[in-house]
Amino acid sequence: MAKLSDLGPPIKGTRRGGLPASEADHFYFCPTCGQAVDRRDLRQVIWHEQPGHEPLEMDGRWTHRERALYVTSRNA
Ligand SMILES: [Zn+2]
Repeated sequence: MAKLSDLGPPIKGTRRGGLPASEADHFYFCPTCGQAVDRRDLRQVIWHEQPGHEPLEMDGRWTHRERALYVTSRNA
């Protein structure tokens, strides 16, 4: 399993339009592997665009799915 840090340093994207209504809006769930993807980090977005990819091993304390679910629950 590839680690997020194996993909190099974070590549920050620039958002078009206004700020999202909540932190959770920075994330989407990948239709291929089901992992939460942070749109602000283009490494993740590019990874999840590859056909047949596996979920990324996250380096932080939480997985992105855990973080996305936490943020979503706080904004509910
Ligand atoms: Zn994916």
